[in-house]
Amino acid sequence: MQWMDLMQIAVSATNCARLYDLAQVRHTRYVQEWQFKTSPTTEEVWDSFVLLALLDDHQCHGSHLRIPHNNDQKDRYTLAMRARNEYIITHGQDELPHACCGCMRVFRMPDGTSRCTEVVVTDGVTVGRPCCAVPHCKNPLESQRHRFCSADPSHKQRETMCAVEGCDRPVVHDSHTGKYRKACADPIHLKMEDMKAASTRSGKSKTQRMKTAKLNNALTSAGVDEDMLPIQDLDEWYNHNPSTGNVRLVQATSTSLTGVTDCLPASSDPISQIPDTCQDKEESFKLKAMFFRQRTNNEQLFIRPCGVISGCGTMYHHEAVSNVLILFEKTFSLPRARKPQHLIYDSNCNALREVESRKLKFFDGMGMCVDAFHHKTKHKASDTFCQQHCDMKAFPELLDKQGEYYFNSSIAEQTNVWFGGFHNMCREMTPVKYDFFLDEMILRRNRVTVFNLQQNGKNPHHPRLSV
Ligand SMILES: [Zn+2]
Ligand SMILES: [Zn+2]
Ligand SMILES: [Zn+2]
Ligand SMILES: [Zn+2]
Repeated sequence: MQWMDLMQIAVSATNCARLYDLAQVRHTRYVQEWQFKTSPTTEEVWDSFVLLALLDDHQCHGSHLRIPHNNDQKDRYTLAMRARNEYIITHGQDELPHACCGCMRVFRMPDGTSRCTEVVVTDGVTVGRPCCAVPHCKNPLESQRHRFCSADPSHKQRETMCAVEGCDRPVVHDSHTGKYRKACADPIHLKMEDMKAASTRSGKSKTQRMKTAKLNNALTSAGVDEDMLPIQDLDEWYNHNPSTGNVRLVQATSTSLTGVTDCLPASSDPISQIPDTCQDKEESFKLKAMFFRQRTNNEQLFIRPCGVISGCGTMYHHEAVSNVLILFEKTFSLPRARKPQHLIYDSNCNALREVESRKLKFFDGMGMCVDAFHHKTKHKASDTFCQQHCDMKAFPELLDKQGEYYFNSSIAEQTNVWFGGFHNMCREMTPVKYDFFLDEMILRRNRVTVFNLQQNGKNPHHPRLSV
């Protein structure tokens, strides 16, 4: 086993370093005479991870790894990592052409002919990294203090504008701290910023946050910044009552990946717990603001029922079904890919409506069902469109002789439990390292899955495209 495989079970770089220390205890008598320290730092663990993954990749492709000798250590592997990321974007994961008895079924039609059906399941999982707050901007943030990228001047300029949505007045300078605020001179907007800062302080102390960030293997090029801006993890807004001047911070207790929020009132922050009278509710209106760094919303995984991951893509904002459809088409249009006969997705009734209204050719003739358990519990029996088109029971090729489901359609939930473990590990990663790390984890997971499928006689292979 390579130590890098430990990361597959979300062992952080810090813990990998600790493990190395523990393993070295037996050799302490040699330490004194050696000029090198035996305890690796978190940064060294990450550098080794990247270097070994790159060497592995080049060995597989029969090429030589070339890296510059004149750069900062933190930027040394960026180009090489980007090249691997781009290769995966254009060629797909190694296992993109995979097929086996667990995800492909050959069956006999009533007329005696043989047919083959393949299934892919998709779902989103909350794993993200900081990103520019302008929707769909893919540029990296220059530092952990920024909310907007610097590559686009019109985005960069928004750092100097009020963070409240719809307000474009310049931010004010605070003479006490000598720093710029993130709100304009409007007292309501300043109050909102104060409220946000107080709600964060009441959650965790700054030191605790820094500690957590370090433990989470903070991985931006700048390392951990004392003045780093926290990441906005929850959906939230401010209720403002103009007649009383009351402002209240409301945090959604949970946000589903499709953007549906459970709007329960109040955080634990005393300032935000100003009692809301009925009158308040009627007269108050909603304000939104971006005082913190935004992060990408989630990763969308395409998984075969046998557990092999075909691909993955970053959703910048809520997992809109249209973006999932675009990503699916992109992944399964790659040269080595085969379009499956069935895509199983929890929001397929909405996806299918979109396919029909926009006449998306790629999905012609494809089955688009909702996972059986989800269909039974979360989809209305009164929605006839959903009942007619998205029920797995309506497709005999998805059922075995006993009428049970042939494929494991809840594989996405199972895989996402594993993948979700990376959220803490990569929440401070730069875009290039983030993609590189997650691709590497998928690659390694697939190797293990394929090995197990082989052991279990499922015949994993890459069929020829003409089949
Ligand atoms: Zn398979
Ligand atoms: Zn931007
Ligand atoms: Zn303002
Ligand atoms: Zn439905």
